[in-house]
Amino acid sequence: MKEFVFASHNHHKVNEIRQIAGQGITILSLKDIGFTDPIPESMPTLEGNALQKARTVFHTAKKACFADDTGLEIEALNGMPGVKSARYAGEDQDFIRNMRKVLSEMNGIANRRARFRTVIALIINDSEYLFEGMIEGTIMEAPRGLMGFGYDPIFQPSGYRISFAEMDAPVKNRISHRGIAFRKLMDHLNSL
Ligand code: IMP
Repeated sequence: MKEFVFASHNHHKVNEIRQIAGQGITILSLKDIGFTDPIPESMPTLEGNALQKARTVFHTAKKACFADDTGLEIEALNGMPGVKSARYAGEDQDFIRNMRKVLSEMNGIANRRARFRTVIALIINDSEYLFEGMIEGTIMEAPRGLMGFGYDPIFQPSGYRISFAEMDAPVKNRISHRGIAFRKLMDHLNSL
């Protein structure tokens, strides 16, 4: 049985990846290993943050471990909010205020192209690996839908006529940035 620690305090993500994990792979949460400290994410890139989080937990747990970081990258805003996605409108990480800020910055802008990008950093025996998942789409003129979280109500994936927040979770997980990155990670872990 192969064991890996997921360096995230978000139990929704831990459940999501456990559903993707194949037989023979155990995903341990931070709670499972008794890690309660906050994990710093102070780097200027998604890659830097994912590595910082994985290294922080690897250093303490001394077990194979991985961490993820995600951002919404809007072309007309030069890739913002990007690595600042969680705290775009302030430290309180308020999803509604973050969305309002994006919508007001996009007011009157015709180019609405955007993408979600997830980076996962994996550390095994002092070797580090990165995996990436991306989904292209557009920023809607106004929020639509009640499901999901974050910027879901204003993101319409390419090829769909509904927002992420109007999609059932299994559909979103199949096409999403995080789903793609998680499956790349799992393919790698299964091949070890
Ligand atoms: P994290 O790195 O997964 O914590 O994501 C950082 C921020 O990006 C979150 O706080 C959300 O604002 C946003 N975000 C990440 N994933 C999604 C998603 O699937 N839908 C909408 N927003 C997301």
